[in-house]
Amino acid sequence: MVPRLYIVIPCYNEEKVLPVTSELFINKIKELISRESIDRKSKVLFVNDGSSDNTWNIISNLSKKSEFVEGISLARNSGHQNALLAGLFVAETMCDITISIDCDGQDDIDAMDEMVSEYRKGSDIVYGIRSDRKTDTVFKKVSAEMYYKLLSKLGVDVIFNHADYRLMSCEVIRQLMKYEEVNMYLRGIIPTLGYNSSEVYYSRKERMAGETHYPLSKMLALALDGITSFTIRPLRLIIAMGIIVAFFSFVGVIWSVASAMTGETVDGWASMTCIVCFLGGIQLISMGVVGEYVGKIYMESKHRPKYNVIKKTWEIK
Ligand code: UDP
Ligand code: MG
Repeated sequence: MVPRLYIVIPCYNEEKVLPVTSELFINKIKELISRESIDRKSKVLFVNDGSSDNTWNIISNLSKKSEFVEGISLARNSGHQNALLAGLFVAETMCDITISIDCDGQDDIDAMDEMVSEYRKGSDIVYGIRSDRKTDTVFKKVSAEMYYKLLSKLGVDVIFNHADYRLMSCEVIRQLMKYEEVNMYLRGIIPTLGYNSSEVYYSRKERMAGETHYPLSKMLALALDGITSFTIRPLRLIIAMGIIVAFFSFVGVIWSVASAMTGETVDGWASMTCIVCFLGGIQLISMGVVGEYVGKIYMESKHRPKYNVIKKTWEIK
């Protein structure tokens, strides 16, 4: 039996790029249907993540014009990861497999052919992996690679150079639904689910229109989420650091007592200042790291909903 595919695409203020890329997604669905790789009722599911521009109008018009397009709209901007989850969880009731992709055309749409064929060969998850980062700035490239290495050193199991372009079967999504955490870092969770997986390589292009919604601040927030949602190793590092500092402090105490006894206590100012600054710095960093985790517990303890779907094209039509 051929699987029914839903391509899930989060969109936030994308009025510039949607008219260009929506065609490509619809054509891809048609092409896969004509090759009998996917079911005739396969669709593109756009998720409007509380856009303040014309994005939702574009989506609802597309859904009126094409039988291959549906859309849902969130009550407010909930962030890329939550918008994606909303789309996946809604799609789960209507299809067999999903492919998540950004709406800006940066990820190679043609890689979907191989993803679907990998699924048909028995993989429940197919990761889209960037084979190069030619279009990224040097800063983004270096920082991203350092970040992936840091994550794996901290014990988080991430797929190198994979973002959110992936195929998942609905069985995987049902498993994902059991994770009730508010801070969902999909890239980190999915490899831990333990399904059969494979990888498809593609080269990442420039955005087709519009601008990125991931400025440095959001990138850093996502990066921090990736670490604090998955590992408590930074807390352990603090303990290790504390032990080392305590050891040196102990040596320092012996040294100062010895100096006092030999009468060399006048020139102590510089060394005192250094020690105070050093300890102050370490303490503040440590408190910050602990605070980050306490903040996370605070957010999780509220169990707030991650998103709110207020409109669905198939309920309006
Ligand atoms: N996006 C979203 N909600 C947000 C920010 C972004 O749904 O709050 C979507 C956006 O429309 C795009 C995808 O997430 O489809 C990736 O965003 P973008 O292309 O701006 O990020 P970049 O590729 O530059 O990292
Ligand atoms: Mg992009």
